[in-house]
Formats: sequence, C-alpha cells, structure tokens
Amino acid sequence: MTTISTNLQAVNARIAAAAQAAGRNPESVRLLAVSKAFPPQAVREAAEAGQRAFGENYVREGMVKIAALADATLEWHFIGPLQSNKTRPVAEHFDWVHSIERLKIAERLSEARGPDRPPLQVCVQVNVSGEASKSGVAPDAAGALARAVARLPNLRLRGLMAIPEPAGDMAQARRRFAALRELRDALNADGLQLDMLSMGMSDDLEAAILEGATIVRVGTAIFGERTRNPAT
Ligand SMILES: *Cc1c(COP(=O)(O)O)cnc(C)c1O
Repeated sequence: MTTISTNLQAVNARIAAAAQAAGRNPESVRLLAVSKAFPPQAVREAAEAGQRAFGENYVREGMVKIAALADATLEWHFIGPLQSNKTRPVAEHFDWVHSIERLKIAERLSEARGPDRPPLQVCVQVNVSGEASKSGVAPDAAGALARAVARLPNLRLRGLMAIPEPAGDMAQARRRFAALRELRDALNADGLQLDMLSMGMSDDLEAAILEGATIVRVGTAIFGERTRNPAT
C-alpha cells in the first residue's frame, strides 16, 4: 500500500466517524482530494486507491494533470481564485467551480461552457469570517449573487463554499461553519435550491461535517505537506 492510499483510508475513516457523530449518513459527505502542488503521479495513486474527485487551485497546473489523467474517469473541481481571462479552459475542462465570487466570472463561464455539455456545477464562495485578505463575497451580498448565478443557462448552482480562517478551537470552528449553513438555509427558504456546502479541510473537517458539510476539501492529510510553491 502506498502512503497516499493509507492516508486516503484514514481520511475516509475520519469522515465516517464525524458523520456518525453528527447522526448523518457518511455517504452524504463527499471527499474532494486537493492535489495542488503534487504531480500527476500522486493523482494517479489516489485514483488507483479509488478516489474520484480532485481539486485544483491553479488553471495551468490543473490542465496538466487533467491531460495526464485523461485515461481515468475523474471529476475535476476548480477551487482557487479565477481571473476572467482564464474562464474558458476552466469551463471546458473542469466539472465544478467552487470559487464563484463575481457575477462577471460566472457569466463568462456559462458562455464558454455552452449548451451542448452538462452544466458546470458551481458554488458561490462566501467570506464567513470577514477577514480582509480572503476571497469570497460578503455574507450580505451572497443572496443577490447566488440568485443571479442561478439564472445563468449553462451553470448549475449547487451551493456555498467557504475557507474560514483557522479557528482557535472546535467551538469557534463550528460557529464559522454554522454561519455558512445558516446562510444556505436562509437562501433556500427564500426560493433557491442549494444542496451543497463545500467546507472543511485537513485540520477542521470534523467541525465542518458536524455543521453540515457535504463536500470536504482535503489536501495535506492525503498527499502530505506542500513544499514547493504551487503556482510554479
Ligand atoms: C489548499 C486548499 C485546500 C486543502 O487544504 P489542506 O489544509 O491541505 O487540506 C482546501 N481548499 C482550498 C480552497 C485550498 O486552497
């Protein structure tokens, strides 16, 4: 067994335990393996161990891996900041985008995706802990953005995503994830149909699952520490 397959088993066990503690079906939580900064061979090892969904933060790096793994049936999620001049390759080669924070980007993705393919699955990224440097739309602007994105023809709005800043303890982590869940519930009460909450990473996936995460995005706990600059 490789380290990656051992790590994957451990992460899946953590997910199952957290789901059980939350009284949830473990199958209601999907694992997104965040492969940024790791080579195509690492993705292949994870795929051979049964992992299907992979997350990438950088367009060029992601495209290299998508091409290298074209023989495997994988699902690719774009989870990083997206500039408007990079929307076309993302719309053409990825299945999901978690990081929608501007309508303009969503419009370009919809146009580039076109009507002939299954809709691109998207989440609106929300800045739930309010820190100035982090990406995401402010919570009070999320509803207007989500409603506009939901009307675009070639996208399917699935839910909300957040990357809260690291919390001091479990209770604080849970409050931040709960804020995203409560926002999702409020938008659904207001007529949207959001079934996904993309939240929780290597260090805090248990707190996220207790608060309703349906997709956890896990890098380090599967692939190890990232040593090189993933942008290069
Ligand atoms: C890198 C990254 C992750 C994974 O973080 P780990 O702490 O390595 O699990 C998840 N989500 C996003 C948006 C990331 O950029």
